[in-house]
Amino acid sequence: MTQYDPVPMERKWQKQWKEWELYKFDFDSDRPVYSVDNPPRYTSGSLHLGHATGYSLIDFAARYRRLRGYNVFFPLCFDVNGTPTEVRVEKKYGINKLSVSRQEYIKLCSEYAESFINEMTLQFEILGESMDPSIYYQTDAPYYRRITQISFLRLLEKGLAYKGTYPVNWCPRCMTALADAEVEYTDNVTKLNFIKFMIKGTDDFMIIATTRPELICTCQVVAVHPEDKERSHHVGKKLLTPIYEKEVDIIADPKVDPTFGSGVVMICTIGDKDDLEWVMKYNLPLEKGIDEQGRMTEVAGKYEGLPVKEARQRIIEDIEIAGQLIRKEELQQNVSICWRCHEPIEYLQVPQWFVKILDFKDDVLKKAEEIKWFPEFMKVRLQDWVNSLGWDWVISRQRYFATPIPIWECVECGQVVPAREEDCYIDPTTDLPPVEKCPKCGGELKGCEDVFDTWMDSSISPLYNTFWERDAERFDWLFPMSMRPQSHDIIRTWAFYTILREHLAVGEKPWDHIMIHGFIMSSDGTPMHSSLGNVIDPIPILEDYGADALRYYASTCSLGEDNAFREKDVKHGKKFLTKLWNIGRFISSFVNEKPARGELKLPDVWILSKFSRLVESVTNHYDNYNFDKAIRELEAFAWHELADHYLEMVKYRNRDKDDMGVRFTLYTTFLGVIKMMAPILPHVTEEIYQSFFQEMDGAKSVHVSDWPEPILVDEDEEERGEFLKEVISAIRKWKSERGMALNHEIELVELVGEKASYLLGVERDILETVRAKRLQIVSEIELEEKVTNLKPVLSKLGPEFKQQAKEIISKVQQFDPYEIAPSIETGTLEIALSDGTKVKLDGNYFEVEKKLTLGGKEVETLQVRDMLVAIQL
Ligand SMILES: [Zn+2]
Ligand SMILES: [Zn+2]
Repeated sequence: MTQYDPVPMERKWQKQWKEWELYKFDFDSDRPVYSVDNPPRYTSGSLHLGHATGYSLIDFAARYRRLRGYNVFFPLCFDVNGTPTEVRVEKKYGINKLSVSRQEYIKLCSEYAESFINEMTLQFEILGESMDPSIYYQTDAPYYRRITQISFLRLLEKGLAYKGTYPVNWCPRCMTALADAEVEYTDNVTKLNFIKFMIKGTDDFMIIATTRPELICTCQVVAVHPEDKERSHHVGKKLLTPIYEKEVDIIADPKVDPTFGSGVVMICTIGDKDDLEWVMKYNLPLEKGIDEQGRMTEVAGKYEGLPVKEARQRIIEDIEIAGQLIRKEELQQNVSICWRCHEPIEYLQVPQWFVKILDFKDDVLKKAEEIKWFPEFMKVRLQDWVNSLGWDWVISRQRYFATPIPIWECVECGQVVPAREEDCYIDPTTDLPPVEKCPKCGGELKGCEDVFDTWMDSSISPLYNTFWERDAERFDWLFPMSMRPQSHDIIRTWAFYTILREHLAVGEKPWDHIMIHGFIMSSDGTPMHSSLGNVIDPIPILEDYGADALRYYASTCSLGEDNAFREKDVKHGKKFLTKLWNIGRFISSFVNEKPARGELKLPDVWILSKFSRLVESVTNHYDNYNFDKAIRELEAFAWHELADHYLEMVKYRNRDKDDMGVRFTLYTTFLGVIKMMAPILPHVTEEIYQSFFQEMDGAKSVHVSDWPEPILVDEDEEERGEFLKEVISAIRKWKSERGMALNHEIELVELVGEKASYLLGVERDILETVRAKRLQIVSEIELEEKVTNLKPVLSKLGPEFKQQAKEIISKVQQFDPYEIAPSIETGTLEIALSDGTKVKLDGNYFEVEKKLTLGGKEVETLQVRDMLVAIQL
């Protein structure tokens, strides 16, 4: 490669790395292990910029540890389960879970998901991801689901999983229960209906405001605040519900907000969580007004079978016809919706399986303390979530495409018959139970048709990765894992459930570190999400700029923060990569065999000292997953200190083939920088390494080479070097401001002042770099001022002297400026004009221009700190 041309170069290395099996975890090695609990990528096919950035950050961490000598465990893995695939498949084939058989439905989902895996693996490859296919897994495979099932059977055995009939969040669209963590909220404008409820046996009535008139059929009781003067005298009376004419009691309850709506609350079973609290408190009967498919039940009378929305409209029309609708108001409302399909959820009473959470809140919080969080403030999100939890975890879903719950139930007495661990993976809807009949009553056994919440699978990824229940020796070796990377939106699910599950299974924290990254926001400021349709496709970006440029952008995103996508950063990245490549080529003209240390001059010591501190600082940033800080410092060093300054200072030393100091310094600093950039920019650094350094450094690839070491730190020499750099760049800047070529030769440079002696010994570096014939370092000089010109001030002369101005200027310019300058400055110069008049002139009319001279020759001066730099052309 002569010109930096990323795409073919990157593909070349990606193929080579694969051939070398560079990222293969070594099960026989005794090097320390660094294991990544890599998020199995969801098999949705498309790669968006959020994924590309997230997985790049994870790869930086893995590649860094590999370069530090760790045996890195970084599995290639895919999440092949669950509702999003079901939603897409239903759309694609126009089916739902009732319209085709269970097995047919699963087959369609499985084929659909599977069809993306090759393409998604290739996307990872093109991004330069260093995941290891030799420890590949996918979450729908029998080997994985087996571990999910065994972990559940253990919970069942310990009494930590139980079946119960409690109201659960229910998505009528997906026809399944949802965990609290799967419920999202959205703002919505709805109608608040003010409805007349007649007080029994009177002509009097109360007004009740409700957004859900379709639930009137399940109204159990009506409540007012006990101190509500206007209404509390009705407590104890009975109300008749509209349409149904059902009698309900009026009670007093301090939880009623007398300022909301009409100040009267209709308590139903069950519209929301508040209803449920009241139902429990007053022990009200549970009536089911809405079924699992979101349709009204027989309790709704003539509205039976209607979908909720339609029933709502119909009943409000009927109430209006009956003259009981007072008015409607618009209401801004926070609606609970399903996180997958974004439809409003209901609360329903359905028998479900649960895992105990409430008893283990403290344990989870304690484990969270044992884990190191990057960034630290993200821990608070987990703590807040744990503290807010009021329900156990509902783990059963009434779906198909997920891990089956490995149990059978007696159709007669409900006795649960769990699968035997050695039989897992099993599907109880098709496989036979371990016993023929119910051990309790001899009744028939029926395989459980529910499946697990997808987090039941993903929350055991650390157990799966470390060979739990498959290889005790490996488990002892590999558990807990080193690091879990994930985004902040799934702290309350993936992070939380994993900590809980590993605590329940083995009593330990799942990982030492957790790294939380933010979202990439689209240009309108919303997080990119496939379901929102605002994603940026990174593939064209990769084709235009290459993976390293995109990874460069990813590295500038601070951990834990949401970042807007800026294409200009990718562009800048490519510019920087081109610069790196060119520096590499330039340095290769100096260095072609591994240089000994040689004699170091001030510029060498200066840059080596800066480099050594850079190694320490960048290492520290990588250790703390602060990739943005690492790349910023590396770029500033490579581009500015090394290329702009050091390289310029030492170019002339290339002529001296024995100057090992400069060769050692160039080799050490640039190779070191390349290695430190390798985790972030794996392709260009490999190309540079293989083209210029590989034979000298000796590793097979930059990615398995040795991490650089600090060489020397010398604060005094570094400070002197800094001063030298400032002098040289001031003179170079001065040249370019005059439009002078940088190699234009200067006659003399004098460095004047007490500080100038600081630069004794580096005269040659200055002379050669600024291209001066002579250099003098002196403590003081006698500079003389020489008047060179009297410049007419036309804005004064014109208005004052009108047509005579021209004559005045010409007369003044006949004098030697040096001689008449003093009389101009004192205002005593008199000029006789042709019309006989005389005018007196002073500095307002002619500006005295002077130049500094040294030994009679003109000089220009610059100030660098306290030092004067005099330049004679
Ligand atoms: Zn849904
Ligand atoms: Zn039975």
